Amino acid sequence: MALFKKKNYIRINPNRTGDQSSVKKPTVPDNMWAKCPCCKRTLYTKDMGAEKVCPYCGYSFRIGAWERLALTVDEKSFEEWDTDLVTKDPLNFPDYLDKIAIMQEKTELHEAVLTGKARIDGQEIGIGVMDANFIMGSMGTVVGEKITRLFERATEQCLPVIIFTASGGARMQEGIFSLMQMAKISGALKRHSNAGLLYITVLTDPTTGGVTASFAMDGDVIIAEPQSLIGFAGRRVIEQTIRQELPDDFQKAEFLLDHGFVDKIVPRNQLQEVLSRLVKIHTMKGWK
Ligand SMILES: [Zn+2]
Repeated sequence: MALFKKKNYIRINPNRTGDQSSVKKPTVPDNMWAKCPCCKRTLYTKDMGAEKVCPYCGYSFRIGAWERLALTVDEKSFEEWDTDLVTKDPLNFPDYLDKIAIMQEKTELHEAVLTGKARIDGQEIGIGVMDANFIMGSMGTVVGEKITRLFERATEQCLPVIIFTASGGARMQEGIFSLMQMAKISGALKRHSNAGLLYITVLTDPTTGGVTASFAMDGDVIIAEPQSLIGFAGRRVIEQTIRQELPDDFQKAEFLLDHGFVDKIVPRNQLQEVLSRLVKIHTMKGWK
C-alpha cells in the first residue's frame, strides 16, 4: 500500500484541471502563413510584401479592391462614383440581400466593383476594380450599371479607362438581369472606343464566365497577372462536353498569351509602371 502514499510523483500543472479558460495557450496569429496555390509552398505572409506575390514562383495572391487601388493609383487621388446604387432582389432569391449586407460589412465595399476617377503618375483615368471576395466578384445589376456609367462618364470627360477584372461570372441570384449587363456594358464601351479613347483591361485571378465574355476581353490592350485563371466555362464542363482531356495549363494566363488572347503578362510589382506608360503613350497630343 506504500505505493499510494508516495509523494514524489511529477506534479502536472494544477491549472489544467477544471476550468481552463484562464490558461494561456500559444497562439498563431491569423494570416501569418499562407499556402501558394501554384507552387504549393508554405509562405510567411510578410515575405510576400504589400503586393502579395509568392517569392518562389511569382504567383499573385488574390487581393481586395481597396488594396489594388492603393498599389495602382496616386495617393488620395481616387474619387468614387455611384455609391448610391442599391442591390435589389428581383427573383426573391433566398437570403440574397442578407448575404449582400454581410459582404458589405466584410469587404467595406457596397458592391463587387469599385468605380471612379483617379490619377496614375498624375494622369487622370477612369478606373474600375472588381473584388473576388464579394460573392466571387459576380456581376449583378449594380456591378453592370456601375461599369456602364464608368464608361459613359469617361467618354464625357475624355478619360482612358482601366479595369481590373476578378469574377466568377454573372450573378446567378439575379438570373437574366445579370446576363443583360454584358450587352449593356459592351454598348457603353463601344461608344467610349468610338470616341477614340483608350481602354485597358487587367485580368486577375480569377476572370471567368460572363465577365470574360464581355468587357474583360474587349480591351484595346489586355494585360494579365502571372498564373491567373482566365476562361469562360469551367474546365470540367469543357472536358465532359468535348470528351477530351485538356492540358494542365489550360485557362492559365500563360496559355492564353501563347494563343493570342492576352497581349502581355505583367508581374504585379511592374503593373503600375506599365499602366502609367501605356496611358502616357496613348494620350500624347497628336496621337489620335
Ligand atoms: Zn508559389
